[in-house]
Amino acid sequence: MAKKEIGYCVKCREKKEFKNAKKVTMKNGRPALKGSCSTCGTGMYKILSSK
Ligand SMILES: [Zn+2]
Repeated sequence: MAKKEIGYCVKCREKKEFKNAKKVTMKNGRPALKGSCSTCGTGMYKILSSK
């Protein structure tokens, strides 16, 4: 994934760039992005809007 994805890191308490962002599907069928914070490495999720 070449595009930079931004998510909210609960540890940094601010928006951070995803590291190793991966598209996943949650249990309810919605697409989400899973990765880790590029600053501290904490796991981050971002809900993607379904198209
Ligand atoms: Zn962080």
